[in-house]
Amino acid sequence: MTDCLFCKIIEGKLPSDQVYQDDQVVVFKDINPCASTHLLVVPRLHIESLNDMNESHHELLSHMMLLLPKLAKDQGLAGGFRTVVNTGKEGGQIVFHLHIHLLGGKQLPGF
Ligand code: AMP
Ligand code: ZN
Repeated sequence: MTDCLFCKIIEGKLPSDQVYQDDQVVVFKDINPCASTHLLVVPRLHIESLNDMNESHHELLSHMMLLLPKLAKDQGLAGGFRTVVNTGKEGGQIVFHLHIHLLGGKQLPGF
């Protein structure tokens, strides 16, 4: 996707503060953090949102979910963390390349 912000970051065409990468995902710091730790876990594959997932993405989804506690541990989030996936405009999604927000570092407010 030539016009996708996160694809450009993944391809190295735009800068990011990257903390982890492997063959399936790239993880970088959110540019406008909502907590002292705020990471974005982004698949290398361009998928717009959860609405576009299907059975072929089973392994990728599993990989992303299992990565979250490892990232949290690496970030020192011993007290816990929050994950958020905004889906669609009404869900608050502004970048239409699937990503999981990983937030923590202090007591987070309830919803
Ligand atoms: P969402 O509302 O779930 O689509 O979240 C998109 C997130 O991407 C927001 O929290 C933005 O602050 C973040 N964001 C936008 N541009 C960048 C960027 N260039 N580098 C890092 N994070 C970004
Ligand atoms: Zn993309």
